[in-house]
Amino acid sequence: MKIHKNIQTFLACDAEYAQAQVVLFGAPFDGTTSFRPGTRFGPSAIRNESFGIETYSPYCDKDLTDYNVFDGGDLEFPFGSAERVLELIDVYAEQLLEDNKPFVMLGGEHLVTLGALRAVIRRYPDVHIIHLDAHTDLRDDYLGEKLSHSTVIRRAWELIGDGKIHQFGIRSGEKQEFEFAKMHTELHKFDLEGFAKTIAQLKDQPVYFTLDLDILDSSVFCGTGTPEAGGLTFKELLNAVIQLHRLNIIGCDINELSPHYDQSGASTAAACKITREVLLQILS
Ligand code: MN
Ligand code: MN
Repeated sequence: MKIHKNIQTFLACDAEYAQAQVVLFGAPFDGTTSFRPGTRFGPSAIRNESFGIETYSPYCDKDLTDYNVFDGGDLEFPFGSAERVLELIDVYAEQLLEDNKPFVMLGGEHLVTLGALRAVIRRYPDVHIIHLDAHTDLRDDYLGEKLSHSTVIRRAWELIGDGKIHQFGIRSGEKQEFEFAKMHTELHKFDLEGFAKTIAQLKDQPVYFTLDLDILDSSVFCGTGTPEAGGLTFKELLNAVIQLHRLNIIGCDINELSPHYDQSGASTAAACKITREVLLQILS
C-alpha cells in the first residue's frame, strides 16, 4: 500500500496550485467582533468537519472530485491590528486574481471581506457585490472604530459607490443604516425576495459574493457571534446559492461561523455543506 502524509484540506480540495480552477483559503480573524468572539476558529472547523459530508452534490449533480480545487490553508495573522490583517488578505487575493484563480475565502468575522474586496475592486472597478446577512453592516463606525464587522459594507460602498451593493435577508441594524441603504444600496429586508431578478441583471458583470452565515435563522445556525432570530431556512439559502453558477464570480467569502457556540455541530455541518455548494457553483 502507499502510505500518505497527513494533509488537511477541505473535502477533496487537494489539487496543486498551478492546476487549480478555484482556490480556497481561510482568514481566521475575529479581532473586531462586537459580541461573542470565536470566528477565528471557523475555517479549521469547516475543514475538520467537511469529512462528514459527501463530495457529491445532488442539488447540482456535480462532484468535487471531478474538479481541481487548491486549499491554501489559513493565512497567518498578527494580533492587534485589523489594518495589517486586511493588508495580508489584500496581497493574497491580489495574487490569486493575477493568476486568474477565482477564490472562496473562509472567515473569520465579516471584516475580512474588506481585504479581499480591496484587491478585487482595484482589478474590477465595475464589480457588483451580493451581500447575504442578517445585519446591514452599514455603520459608519462602531464605538469610533472604522474597521469592524458591523462597518464592512459601508467601507465597501466607499470604494465602489451607489447601486453596486445588493443586500438580502437583512433584519437588523440601526435606523440610520436602513436610511443610508435607501439612498445608496439595494437592500432587501428579511428574505431573498428579488434575488433571482438581481442575478438576471448581473449576469454579464463581475460579481463578488459575500455570505454572512447569520442570515440563517438562529434555530438552524446558532454557531455564530451575533445570532439573529427571524432568518432563513437552510433550504432557502441553498436555493439562492444554487443560482450562482449564472454569474461571473470573481471571488467570494463565507464568514461568521463561530464553532465554540455550535454544541451540536449542526451549524458547522451547515457551513460545510454551503461551502461545497458554493465551490461547485463557481466551478460550473
Ligand atoms: Mn451578520
Ligand atoms: Mn455581516
